[in-house]
This record gives sequence, structure tokens and C-alpha cells, in this order.
Amino acid sequence: MIYKRSSKLFTDAEKVIPGGVNSPVRAFKAVGGTPIFVKKAKGAYLFDEDGNKLIDYINSWGPMLLGHAFEPVVEAVIEKTKQGTSFGMPTEIETKIAELAVSMVPNIDKIRFVNSGTEACMSAVRLARGFTGKDKIIKFAGCYHGHSDSFLIQAGSGAITLGEPNSPGVTEGTAKDTLLARYNDIENVKQIIEANKGKIACIILEPVAGNMGCIPPKQGFLDALRSLCDANSILLIFDEVMTGFRLAKGGAQELYNINADIVCFGKVIGGGLPVGAFAARAEIMNHLSPLGPVYQAGTLSGNPLAMAAGLAMLTEINNDAELFNRLEQKTDYLHKGIEEVLTEYNIIHTINRVGSMISVHFAEEKVVDFESSAKGNNDTFKKFFHGLLNEGIYIAPSAFETWFITDALTYEDLDATISAIAKVGKTL
Ligand SMILES: *Cc1c(COP(=O)(O)O)cnc(C)c1O
Repeated sequence: MIYKRSSKLFTDAEKVIPGGVNSPVRAFKAVGGTPIFVKKAKGAYLFDEDGNKLIDYINSWGPMLLGHAFEPVVEAVIEKTKQGTSFGMPTEIETKIAELAVSMVPNIDKIRFVNSGTEACMSAVRLARGFTGKDKIIKFAGCYHGHSDSFLIQAGSGAITLGEPNSPGVTEGTAKDTLLARYNDIENVKQIIEANKGKIACIILEPVAGNMGCIPPKQGFLDALRSLCDANSILLIFDEVMTGFRLAKGGAQELYNINADIVCFGKVIGGGLPVGAFAARAEIMNHLSPLGPVYQAGTLSGNPLAMAAGLAMLTEINNDAELFNRLEQKTDYLHKGIEEVLTEYNIIHTINRVGSMISVHFAEEKVVDFESSAKGNNDTFKKFFHGLLNEGIYIAPSAFETWFITDALTYEDLDATISAIAKVGKTL
């Protein structure tokens, strides 16, 4: 495939946008080459600026659960736009989408809308601190909760009691309050709680990790976290920005039958427009301003276009009783197909999957946390990525990303993908 126009557009972009992109993972740093500029998309396909058609497995990093330019969402946004695009005043549609979200998700009474997953997680942590009166938080290595300061943290030398910044610009003062634990390692979490008795406000995690590949929680891990939180007056925050409305109507809480105290949303909840949200029981949410003392605000929060897109999306998900079965079956079909061809060509690999999230790791051992995910062979991944791209299959340009399956994918698309993987597999 030819990417002449994309290359030119990238060169132009680099002059006026740092790295040519508005979010780093788009820049192909992990795989080499220049990013593809997209012109439009429909259903399961991307159409780039050079006229190539690609089968899309990123889907805007998750939001397009029902495919690109999904008609009810497009219509809803067009209709709303004609009535004005932002007021900074309450609108009825905010209540409508809030009611629907509260009816779909377990254990939440109230929800507040923001503009991104980053904002949702940042605000959830502030709320947890305000509610508990404690400062420290526990996060897991390899889990991503957006780019706010408290989350850009690595394990420090006193790893159990102090975190360190992993980006310049994050202060030591902020970093010391974030403690880093190993995903799927409950003993490690216990140690950290023990060493910081009475100081931890919340534990935040992706209940199914999706930002170090797809990593399911080990059997009993979420239950054990719930018990530890209860025993130590710590709030459990599920960051369901990726899993919310994707793994089930009620997200991972429903799938694993575990209640979190605060739940964060993004991606699917906005139907492709910039939306995030956080939600909890009333006793917790009532601590937010203007009811309570914990401050949180946003000029464009609850924006009518964003709410229209989100409401159309959630309505469709809520009304389609077979959606999650179809997604499961399609992803399972792809899973088996990939497994078969990679095995046939003797390529060392591990495939992880939960529902419509799947990741292929070129690793020998099971991938259960950041360390094991990082052991994957990145050279093989690079060849795999570029090989697939050449065949018109677009997966995320990093081995640490999940593939997102949409309902728009047909079995012909899946067969084409498996054939492409077979062709590329021979060359790995
Ligand atoms: C994408 C993501 C975020 C950040 O959301 P943005 O909208 O990119 O700010 C936070 N948490 C998880 C689990 C995510 O996947």
C-alpha cells in the first residue's frame, strides 16, 4: 500500500504540532514508520488520505463499539447541532443520559459528566480523598488512568511507601502520594496497605487491564481487593473508561459481580465525542460541589452534542439484547483463527481476551501483569504490525494495546484478517 499523502501530511503536521500528533501513541514511535492520516470511516473500515481501505481494530481506542459513523449517533449529533452547540446551562438531555447510565450500571445512584477519561479518573481520586480524608492512593503498574499528575508515577526506591515521577513536570510532592502495586498480586497490595496504615484513600485499577495488552484479573483478585478495601476503609475505584458499556451493559462490575465504590467512564459513553464520567452511590457523590466541599467543574461538561452522541450510543446498547453475545462470538472466532495460524507457523505467542478486548503477545509465558507483558518480543510485533498494515489490517501501533472488536465487523472481515495473519505469520 502507498502512503504518500499521509507522509506529506505528517511532515506538515510535525512543523506545527509536537511530534505531528495530539496524542503520543498515534505517532508510531513503538513500531517505526509514519502515521496514517485518516480521511473518513464507516462501519468496520477506515479510509485514509491515500485512498486505502483498512479494517480497523482500534476503533478510536474503544469508543466505536458499534462501528464508525453509526447512523443513530450521527443523526442525533446533527439534530442537536442545529439547536446550538453549548450553553453552559443545564439541559434536559444531561438528565436523560444520566438516568440511562444509572439504570445500566450496578451500584451507582449519581453520575457526573466530564470531557475525557483523564478528567474522570482525576476527579474520582479527588472525590475519594475528600470523602475519606486520606491522601495516598494505590495504582497498579501498567494500568493507565489518563495523564493527570497523580498517575504518571513509577515505583520509587521506597516502593512500598513512596512513588516517583515518571515524567518531568510531575513533582516529587505529588508522586509520593501514589503507591505502585503489581497487577494481579494481592500480597503486594496487602504489604503496601500494611506499610501505610490509615493513609490510603483509594485503590484505583482497570478491572480488566487494557493498556498493557488485555490482561484479565486473576480469579479472586477483584474480590480480594474489595475485602481489603472494606477492612481498611479504602474506596475501590474501577476505571471502566475502556471496559464500561463494552464488556457488559454494567461493565466489569456486572461481568465479575463486584461492586466498586466509584466508577470512571469514557470512550464508549461518548459514542465518539469527548465524554468522560464518574459515578458512585449518593453518599459519595453528594460530597461534590455544589452539594459538598469537593470541587469539580467544566465549561463544556455535559455538552449537548456530546450528550446526544452518548445517549444514542447507550440507548442502542441498552436495547440490543444480543449485542454482547455477538461481540463475544466474533472475538472468540478471531481468537481461535489467530491461535491456529500462529501455532501453525511455530510463532511463540500468548493471546489474552475478555469479551471484545483481545491482545496478541509474542511472549512465551502467560501475560498477567506489566512485567510479563513487557517480555513480549517487540521486533516480532513491529514486523507483525507493518505486515498487517500492508494487508489492509490496522491494529494499534504498540504491543501494549488491546484490539477492540466492533459489532460492525463481519465474519468475512474476520476471515480476511485471519488470512492476512497467516500470510504475515510465514514471514515472522
Ligand atoms: C483511555 C483511558 C483513559 C484516559 O481517557 P482519555 O479520554 O484518553 O483521557 C483512562 N483510563 C483508561 C482505562 C483508559 O483506557
